[in-house]
Amino acid sequence: ERAKLAKLRRLPAQTIDGEMVELHANLEILQELPLIAQAGAQGIGLLRTEFLFMNRDDLPGEDDQHAAYAQIVEALAGDPVTIRVLDWGGEKNIEALSESDEHTHAGPNPALGLRGLRMLLKRPELLETQFAAILRTAGQAPEGAVRVLLPMVTIPDEVKLTREIYERVARRLRRRGERLPEKLPMLGVMIETPGAALAADAIALEADFFAIGTNDLAMYTLAVDRAEADVAHLYDPLHPAVLRLMQFATEAALRLRIPVSVCGEVAGNAKLVPLLLGLGIRCLSMNAASLPRVKQAVRALDITDCARFARRVMEQSDPVRIHELVENFASGVP
Ligand code: PEP
Ligand code: MG
Repeated sequence: ERAKLAKLRRLPAQTIDGEMVELHANLEILQELPLIAQAGAQGIGLLRTEFLFMNRDDLPGEDDQHAAYAQIVEALAGDPVTIRVLDWGGEKNIEALSESDEHTHAGPNPALGLRGLRMLLKRPELLETQFAAILRTAGQAPEGAVRVLLPMVTIPDEVKLTREIYERVARRLRRRGERLPEKLPMLGVMIETPGAALAADAIALEADFFAIGTNDLAMYTLAVDRAEADVAHLYDPLHPAVLRLMQFATEAALRLRIPVSVCGEVAGNAKLVPLLLGLGIRCLSMNAASLPRVKQAVRALDITDCARFARRVMEQSDPVRIHELVENFASGVP
């Protein structure tokens, strides 16, 4: 089994009919960095930066953050690292922030409040520090090795405003004499709310790429808290409503020719690969541990079959039936 996986690591994630699929890893603690190369990931599709802010009572400064990003980007040796700016809020509580001021209080419904980019735009100094650390990292890395990702976006203006801050930080760093890449790293958007998914065409005009976050997309679409045991039976990324939103966002990205990936938990489920490929997704980011099995699944598929299968799934309105179709396809039932 070990030898088989080691061999798999060197084989391309390519379907039988020759479609290449990019397989990236999600990273949320530094200790897991060695697993990424072992798994044969082609990059980090989602670097959750929350770990830098946790278990401390102050905030990490520009140099601290830069050191961490640089370590990760260097370890990836030119493969792309998508750094997501701080996604504070919801179930992701950060003590140094909770206590610091009125702009970061939890509010009556934290998942619907100042979460992700919303909080960063209320406290732009946090965003500026993080952008500065990321841009300096990009300046020392090969072109394209760093990408920046914005969590919890719902309107194009949030991206526009953020890009202004991003460019302002870059100008300031250049004045300071820092080496930055001529072309700034791509600035992408998490599609993780129904609003963002349904307005994906408008958001795509401001975003350089999309990363579909199915974990939150399912939570917000179905009004089911992802961390609430009492309603866990209703939490289902295969609910047709969630799939339709994913399809809508994917098609908008393909139409507007910006890269799109899926980085929620579904991306690491080998049984869901046919559906995701069938919907037009060619880039998946997942826990490193899931990657070999996902690659195995990709290598056993034919895109034409996937597209036909996805069309059948998307005709269904009952989640039970969708789960049945997925199970059947995975076990080879026509
Ligand atoms: C998601 O919401 O699907 C996602 C990938 O981000 P996170 O799980 O960090 O919220
Ligand atoms: Mg999310």
